Amino acid sequence: MGVESTFRIGLGYDFHAFEEGRELVLGGVRIPYDRGLIGHSDADALTHAVADALLGAAGLKDIGTYFPDSDPQYRGISSLLLLEKVCRLIRGKNYRVGNIDATILAEAPKIKPHVEAIKVSLGRVLYLKPEQIGLKATTMEGRGPVGRGEGLAVHAVALLMKDG
Ligand code: MG
Repeated sequence: MGVESTFRIGLGYDFHAFEEGRELVLGGVRIPYDRGLIGHSDADALTHAVADALLGAAGLKDIGTYFPDSDPQYRGISSLLLLEKVCRLIRGKNYRVGNIDATILAEAPKIKPHVEAIKVSLGRVLYLKPEQIGLKATTMEGRGPVGRGEGLAVHAVALLMKDG
């Protein structure tokens, strides 16, 4: 049996394809753009990746297990509500979030002007100060599905700390 650590790290990843006529929501913040991400919920890939990082750190199952896209109650739902539920699951296991860090891969739109708003939005749900949230964006230099503007990908990590 391994020794249980006070600190737990988790990794999350998500990709959603773009489609015209949908709203682009990242970290619960609406980003002005001519396309949005396709998905059953609001398709907030950043919030999904962060939620999976948190679930992974807690040794829980993935976001699709708790919120299946076959379930009509999650249709069009704000992913921040899913993240809130994830937080409850984590607190139920006596963990609190130390920090999270994420990188958005997107050819467009520019994410930088929205970084502070997104940090506030995620921080409100996760009970984190903006300085406990890392958020960067990069392009794929025109290569691959992200580079061709077909979609947007997010990598996220989270650190949990055991309470008590
Ligand atoms: Mg997703």
